[in-house]
Amino acid sequence: MAKKVAKRCVMCGREETAANHVVTIYDNLTICEECIDFIDQQRDAELVQQKADKKSDKKNHKIPSPKKIHEFLDQYVIGQDEAKKYLSVAVYNHYKRINQQVEEDDVEFEKSNIVMVGPTGTGKTLLAKSIAKLLDVPFTIVDATVLTEAGYVGEDIESLLTRLLQTCDYDVEAAERGIVFIDEIDKIARKSDNPSITRDVSGEGVQQGLLKLLEGSTVLVPPNGGRKHPEQKLIAVNTKNILFICGGAFDGIERKIGARLNTHMVGYGHDEKSRKKQRENLMRYVLPQDLKSFGLIPEIIGRLPVLTALNPLDREALRKILTEPKNAIIRQYQKMLALDGVELEFTEDALDMIVDKALEYKLGARGLRSIVETAMVDVLYEAPESKKKKVTVDGAFIARQLDKANFDKVKMADD
Ligand code: ADP
Repeated sequence: MAKKVAKRCVMCGREETAANHVVTIYDNLTICEECIDFIDQQRDAELVQQKADKKSDKKNHKIPSPKKIHEFLDQYVIGQDEAKKYLSVAVYNHYKRINQQVEEDDVEFEKSNIVMVGPTGTGKTLLAKSIAKLLDVPFTIVDATVLTEAGYVGEDIESLLTRLLQTCDYDVEAAERGIVFIDEIDKIARKSDNPSITRDVSGEGVQQGLLKLLEGSTVLVPPNGGRKHPEQKLIAVNTKNILFICGGAFDGIERKIGARLNTHMVGYGHDEKSRKKQRENLMRYVLPQDLKSFGLIPEIIGRLPVLTALNPLDREALRKILTEPKNAIIRQYQKMLALDGVELEFTEDALDMIVDKALEYKLGARGLRSIVETAMVDVLYEAPESKKKKVTVDGAFIARQLDKANFDKVKMADD
């Protein structure tokens, strides 16, 4: 009987032994177990290296100049030039600071967290989100109103960072360079000017807690958020390089600004329209001391050195928001229907009608989407099976659809 030919490894050339089997991958491709282990190790080492390279690429990637940041923001956010300028400079400096290799007696830049003051729905969140998109850093939005002092029902301050960690798969190093947008920061203002008032649950205590995060320290974050559970293993996160952008409507702050500026103001309008204009204009003059009169503690204000105001959106801005941003609502609908082979056109008076309704119901930019959604539901329902290759939407159609859907009543009920 012919002797069975021993299998040989094509990589190392050795014959199969009892301790080192040779595996047939297919036909003549035979590899011994030791070589397979070796390949495995090489592959793991390469993956680790690739990951490290990617990280260091991200770390060293060039930060766009403030002008470039501004231009990028222009693609998504209409108007708000002043806020864009402040943000661009602050963000540029922040990441320049992180990237600089601090040498011994180098000047260390202070961190510039940002606070944006302006009516709701004017683009504060959108600005922060767009910046994170540009820089490709972890980003999260958290609502300051969910915070309460430790010991009361609510979430602990540290849990603000849980979601940031979750957005980057618990990559602590990435999270430590991320951006946290804290919305409704004005809601944790001290309710009374009397600092000795006890148990101001949603006020000063929360601000004190927040202070720790804003100024940069190592905090222990519950990986699954919520209240700390003794069995939860906490993750240490250093907030030194996290950029905090805060936003708030600060309703009524114009009165504080007005009071401060009072002596310099001339010709205060008497009719409602000019009073409104005056109020809007006042926001531009917001200063840190106005935030203090509003109820933020001086330490917090000190940690939010970049302060900028957003303007209310007028008719012209709302009209542009409908069509101009890269992901404008109208463009989204056109693209959606194009997928069904239907061309969608909005006449000029349709766009005007949408803006009119948003203004009429005082819905601001957020309302534009709900108006378009309500008006377009029938079109979206019919289009995929329709023989029509083009749909033209005009103002009368929008008005009819809103009427049919009782949009006014629904919106009233929402309020
Ligand atoms: P807030 O100021 O309350 O944070 P947001 O940024 O969340 O407001 O705005 C709500 C929505 O309104 C956004 O998703 C966006 O569609 C639209 N929007 C608001 N302001 C602008 C703007 N200046 N430019 C473009 N879209 C805007």
